[in-house]
Amino acid sequence: RKGNVIITGASSGLGLATAKALADTEKWHIIMACRNFLKAEKAAKSVGITKENYTVMHLDLSSLDSVRQFVDTFRRSGRPLDALVCNAAIYLPTAKEPTYTAEGFELSVGTNHLGHFLLSRLLLDDLKKSDFPQKRLIIVGSITGNTNTLAGNVPPKANLGDLRGLAGGLNGLNSSAMIDGGEFDGAKAYKDSKVCNMLTMQEFHRRYHEETGVTFSSLYPGCIATTGLFREHIPLFRILFPPFQKYITKGYVSEEEAGKRLAQVVSDSSLTKSGVYWSWNKNSASFENQLSQEASDEEKARKLWEVSEKLVGLA
Ligand code: NDP
Repeated sequence: RKGNVIITGASSGLGLATAKALADTEKWHIIMACRNFLKAEKAAKSVGITKENYTVMHLDLSSLDSVRQFVDTFRRSGRPLDALVCNAAIYLPTAKEPTYTAEGFELSVGTNHLGHFLLSRLLLDDLKKSDFPQKRLIIVGSITGNTNTLAGNVPPKANLGDLRGLAGGLNGLNSSAMIDGGEFDGAKAYKDSKVCNMLTMQEFHRRYHEETGVTFSSLYPGCIATTGLFREHIPLFRILFPPFQKYITKGYVSEEEAGKRLAQVVSDSSLTKSGVYWSWNKNSASFENQLSQEASDEEKARKLWEVSEKLVGLA
């Protein structure tokens, strides 16, 4: 049978390119988990994913109710789950004030981390039940959260501190809207959320890899300077960023190439090792990359897991 893969945020950018790459193999049925049904349908059509290869299901990661409803809807479809790709994200670099999810968590961390945390915790049971030879749970990471890289050292740097803001509910009322308890900064909130994504993947690996056989991975697909992620940025940035990445840093990668990379992490039989953060070199060969000290801190990962469980109602 074909594999079934859920991809969050498959309506644009990396998620769409990955859906396309997997659909083209004719070995996968793609469940496009998206907040905008019509946009997702149009996106699938625009890149030529054929009807029998995908299903759009509604998911708004900035609402925990929506996450639970999505899981119910998926289960009612009767499809087994063989791979889950947590890809969706928002980035609000120019926001002056925090905005919030349905439950009142700061929007970037609430969507990118907490929404995906609940989704992947609930769907782990479904992955466990699958009889597929290689079951995988992938959480897309980023270089920007890794302070051991040049890109990760552009201020404001990611820093989760002692998680006091998160533990307080990240709601800007009785706690800060930032994980470390500091002043709101939209660009930093995104980077922090990516560190959470990478810590969560490793904690999943430690807790569940042996027991379930599921491969847990994260990746940095390269700088895809053309995606919608930068839609909130100032116009001049949006004009200059792609050529800057192409000719100066040379980290630029096309959406199509990045989609192929993520598709490899979903289905390539050579990328089965669990707990790995994948990257690609100039010749597009994959390698196991090193995470920054904070993004590989086991104690922080455990604490983040426990605090997040409380916030999403799992503990
Ligand atoms: P895009 O903005 O193109 O795609 C993001 C996707 O997330 C969109 O489909 C968007 O939906 C969806 N999304 C946003 N909020 C929600 C929500 N509340 N519920 C459901 N879906 C939501 O960005 P990219 O393709 O660049 O980003 C994809 C991933 O790649 C992210 O995890 C990002 O951190 C990562 N990444 C990107 C890099 C880059 O250079 N672009 C580099 C490294 C990592 P909609 O279409 O409705 O807006």
